[in-house]
Amino acid sequence: MKIEIKKDFVPSKIVCVGRNYADHAAELGNEVPKEPLLFLKAPSAVVFDGKEIVKPKYSDQVEHEGELGIVISQTCKDLADGANVKDYILGYTCLNDVTARDLQRKDGQFARAKSFDTFCPIGPHIESELDVADIRVIVRVNGVVKQDGRTSQMVFPVDFLIRYISNMMTLNPGDVIATGTPSGVSKLSSGDVCEVEIEGIGVLTNKVT
Ligand code: ZN
Repeated sequence: MKIEIKKDFVPSKIVCVGRNYADHAAELGNEVPKEPLLFLKAPSAVVFDGKEIVKPKYSDQVEHEGELGIVISQTCKDLADGANVKDYILGYTCLNDVTARDLQRKDGQFARAKSFDTFCPIGPHIESELDVADIRVIVRVNGVVKQDGRTSQMVFPVDFLIRYISNMMTLNPGDVIATGTPSGVSKLSSGDVCEVEIEGIGVLTNKVT
């Protein structure tokens, strides 16, 4: 079922998983982590389908990261190993974890590089009925395919991630989890149209200015 994302939707947090696809970790010269590498994006970075990604003047290397996003349905804390996570998932959406790669490298941590306004496009809606074990995640820039992966390539799968994160911090209704990106990240320029397409969900389209 398609659930509309309301215009006033603001998650209390966006929890991201770094290096969750081995080929993407390798393209940035990183090892695959032994446990999920978590970081946060500011909720104020959220924009919706059709809105613009605004390149900040502080970065010369803004890149797309197409990802499967999970939206949480109810308060979720300290889930045990093997606990059923379905009751805690409202649904899934396309997410673009837009990143100022130069600042990520320079700062040695991710807060600034990941959290400029407009750096978290989500949408076009939330899909509640979806088997996400092995679905395709594609990113196109100006119609050219840049990223093309499958969720079955995740180092840590969706169920594991939700249980793991719930033991690190309470997940609130509406919180968003970004599950990591496959290889093929590339630089965005002003005027580019970036599309994140996930099989069974749809296409999230944002122009860069
Ligand atoms: Zn990411």
